[in-house]
Amino acid sequence: MPVYDDVLRRNQGEIEFHQAVYEVLESLSPVVQKRPEFVEASIIERICEPERQIIFRVPWVDDKNVVQINRGFRVEFNSALGPFKGGLRFHPSVYLGIVKFLGFEQVFKNALTSMPIGGGKGGSDFDPKGRSEGEIMRFCQSFMTELYRHIGEYTDVPAGDIGVGGREIGYLFGQYKRITNRYESGVLTGKGLSWGGSQARTEATGYGTVFFVNEMLKTRGQSLDGKRVVVSGSGNVATFAVQKVHQLGGTVVAVSDSSGYVVDEHGIDLEALREVKEVERGRIDSYVAKVGGRATFIEGGSVWDVPCDVALPCATQNELPVEGAKALITNGVQVVGEGANMPTTPTAVAAFQAAGVLFAPGKAANAGGVATSALEMQQNASRDRWTFDHTEERLADIMVGIHELCLSTSDAYDIPGDYVAGANIAGFTQVADAMLAMGVI
Ligand code: GLU
Repeated sequence: MPVYDDVLRRNQGEIEFHQAVYEVLESLSPVVQKRPEFVEASIIERICEPERQIIFRVPWVDDKNVVQINRGFRVEFNSALGPFKGGLRFHPSVYLGIVKFLGFEQVFKNALTSMPIGGGKGGSDFDPKGRSEGEIMRFCQSFMTELYRHIGEYTDVPAGDIGVGGREIGYLFGQYKRITNRYESGVLTGKGLSWGGSQARTEATGYGTVFFVNEMLKTRGQSLDGKRVVVSGSGNVATFAVQKVHQLGGTVVAVSDSSGYVVDEHGIDLEALREVKEVERGRIDSYVAKVGGRATFIEGGSVWDVPCDVALPCATQNELPVEGAKALITNGVQVVGEGANMPTTPTAVAAFQAAGVLFAPGKAANAGGVATSALEMQQNASRDRWTFDHTEERLADIMVGIHELCLSTSDAYDIPGDYVAGANIAGFTQVADAMLAMGVI
């Protein structure tokens, strides 16, 4: 693929970005045959090159009065469908290749939501682990002191991702407001409920993933009711995936973090999990004592060894390797839905598909988070506030819509039931049509 060779040449060493591009390009040959105008206008070449990439220094002073330097990023990938939209990730692993992979995925994901949002992503190699409130605030303020000039309600709208939740969005919004002297609610999403945030935004990514998986099960005449579910991760996405699975009658028997995983045959106790992760910001092994010893902690090891009907990778990229896929298949997994971005490696995806396991890629299954961000922008633009139930209903409709779009697209291209190709083709054609209409820009 000459386009892919160009991507390799221009983005050397950015392996996650290469992987994300390859996975999309692999799906596009039937589109290219049907729509030669995309080739004539070099749409694929253009879509693989971000519109703008910003890298900046983030200096701040820690609690010991030592000056710290981090690197900040914002990759504004594609604005054909609306302002750049996508989260910020604060994690030591963040470098340009991670931000680009996330930004690239976001372009297609956002298109699938059918909301008017382009795609972008940002973040920093800052590690929030073990940092005090004051350090987190000063870091966020310094980060925004540079970022503010690049973003705006009609330009680029950041939100959270790994390491960036309500607390960080608060500090970021406060600094933006102070610098610009504008109460521009729609410049960030994931805000607090009393200052422009949307009901159900916190829950949306996890809930949306579970809604999507329930739709997948329906295609086989089943539902989540009575299903055994394994969720990896224990952050925002995982937490609310657990909650929605339980509301729909399934049982989540395991969750994890980077230290290992816990198995709780009674079903993961959400209060205990949130106490460990959100209040104490501790490790997952503390969960065992919180539930009176009824659960088991397995240090290291793979959560994918736990037998289940449904697996929801909700932690981070490439966390589900082919060995994990094989263990899940051997234990009879029926459905895999990605709550995280690109958590399943390409060989693991291929293994699931070859085994007839229903597999949904993150850009479809986890789009509920950003879709609800778009609902937050809608509420901010009309200076309105919706109820939880109304917002959750909109989220559920959007997820059903994405599921239908993936299936109808895979049908139209003679690859029925292939959610990966369906999502890639449907996302791509929407962005490509808009780019075609707008000329060479
Ligand atoms: N970080 C989330 C994602 O991966 C949400 C981004 C947003 O709400 O803008 O889609």
